[in-house]
Amino acid sequence: MSSSSTAYCYHCGTHHPREEMRQIETKGGKRWRCIKSIEATKRGTAERDAFGKQVTASNKSELQAKLRMRAALTAAQKPR
Ligand SMILES: [Zn+2]
Repeated sequence: MSSSSTAYCYHCGTHHPREEMRQIETKGGKRWRCIKSIEATKRGTAERDAFGKQVTASNKSELQAKLRMRAALTAAQKPR
């Protein structure tokens, strides 16, 4: 029986088994955080990045479509 088999996870606010946790450096010093929450944050950041890229790409294609439409209208309005 070992009383040090769990540690307080500052992210979840509960105790987890230490083998599921990592000690990390924060501004306030060394703290324990579970690997699950670390991975979830990493995934969340990657998903946000992917989403941001998607939005940028769709904005670009929308802008290009508008520019093409405007160019077509301008061409149609020009007298020959
Ligand atoms: Zn946790």
